[in-house]
Amino acid sequence: MITILKFGGTSVGSAEAIERSANIVVKESGSKVVVVSAMSGITNFLVKAVEDKNVRIDDVIEEFREKHVSTAKELLSDDLFKEFMKEFEERFADFSELLKDSEARKDRFFQDNMTSQGERFSSLILSYEIRQLGFKSVALTSEMAGVFAEGEPLSGSCDLSRTSAVMSMKVKPLLNDDIIPVITGFYGINEEGKPLTFGRGGSDYAAAAIGNALDANSVEIWTDVDGFMSADPRFIPEAISIGEMNYNEAAELAHFGAKVLHPRTIEPARMKHIPIWVKNSYKPEHPGTQIHHIRKPRNTPLRSVAMKMDLSRITVISGEISYKQDLVAKIMQKFAEAGVIIYAISTSLSSIAFLVHSLDAYKALQYLNDLDDEIERIDVRSNFALICAVGDGLLHRVGFCGDIFMAVKDVDASVEMISQGASDVSLNFVVSTDFAADVVRSLHSRFISGGN
Ligand code: ADP
Ligand code: ASP
Ligand code: MG
Repeated sequence: MITILKFGGTSVGSAEAIERSANIVVKESGSKVVVVSAMSGITNFLVKAVEDKNVRIDDVIEEFREKHVSTAKELLSDDLFKEFMKEFEERFADFSELLKDSEARKDRFFQDNMTSQGERFSSLILSYEIRQLGFKSVALTSEMAGVFAEGEPLSGSCDLSRTSAVMSMKVKPLLNDDIIPVITGFYGINEEGKPLTFGRGGSDYAAAAIGNALDANSVEIWTDVDGFMSADPRFIPEAISIGEMNYNEAAELAHFGAKVLHPRTIEPARMKHIPIWVKNSYKPEHPGTQIHHIRKPRNTPLRSVAMKMDLSRITVISGEISYKQDLVAKIMQKFAEAGVIIYAISTSLSSIAFLVHSLDAYKALQYLNDLDDEIERIDVRSNFALICAVGDGLLHRVGFCGDIFMAVKDVDASVEMISQGASDVSLNFVVSTDFAADVVRSLHSRFISGGN
């Protein structure tokens, strides 16, 4: 029996948190594979080091070193700390060399390389802390473990078959010897042998991909809240933990803004029916949430609400566009060439509206401009948020849509776009960003905390 345990940034954010997480690992029965994020704040720190021209490289090196070395020193015995420092220095030499190398900066995967550095050090500390507790452990980078990635910078996908083939050789034998591998999350190695990250928050996805590759029995995502909740508890303090949900429900919510899981976490697990648990590393005794393939009948109309901010609506207008199938195909092709994700589409006789992330809107427009001759006009409006309401009772209950939109009316928001029917578990709609949190609050109090 193999369990993947993934620890997020806050679960390895301090010596105390690392000790707590290591205890969770060693108490788990069967074979264990640990996947780890960078210590909280470290990835942002590295992003800034890459983007901010005024940052002094020596300061970055010093601060990064101090944070990791002092944490390890707090946790480890003198002997173990000495051993730790040997491995640390090897990894650290590569890190500081990378930072100082002006040629490396020109590489299109440089940002992936830099921002994935935090995981290399958090994994080392956690592995040594597991050893400190008396268990055998080894820290493996994605290069060492054989986690492979493909795709464009900052948005890689895991190459599951290659990862599975190599990990079976490199990682499975360790498990047979009762060694607990602690593997870097967030990135894999691409065809050129370079680190390629899976997008921010990508360690959840890495854990699910590793679970798939090793045919694990379960994937546990250890975070800082009591599981998958009825809404983001930062906005809705009365949000409740959901005991179990199915892959579809969790995937829709994660895709549309529930940050607790990286949007692509579900698929690698779903492919092999591997259950995912979301649990609180601060409260290991709390049952958390089980996400699985079973679809149980429910009597609650609404289970959870997510919101995705910073969206823009691009409306392409051309007379009777619905009858110009070639043009519609070309427009879709332009979004594909731009690599832009579309979060909702709505059509009318002479226009098609696309909802995209605001950071992608400009890029999409550049590509759409090629179709200038065939398009009458393109309108762009920003400051939108998408609200994703999930619950299967929701879509089958007569009049429930009306109830949902009453909750929107209660906060004087107007609905700018609606998407329903594509998924059988969710209703998505778009409101102005200014109203998004109020709409979520209103839905939550009407249908979840209000006990409807
Ligand atoms: P980690 O560092 O462990 O990966 P994240 O910060 O990425 O943790 O994700 C956990 C956070 O996700 C929570 O602190 C919470 O604020 C946020 N969140 C958003 N939506 C939800 C939800 N539906 N259920 C639980 N947490 C949510
Ligand atoms: N450390 C990475 C990030 O902050 C990946 C992760 O935490 O999942 O985005
Ligand atoms: Mg996360």
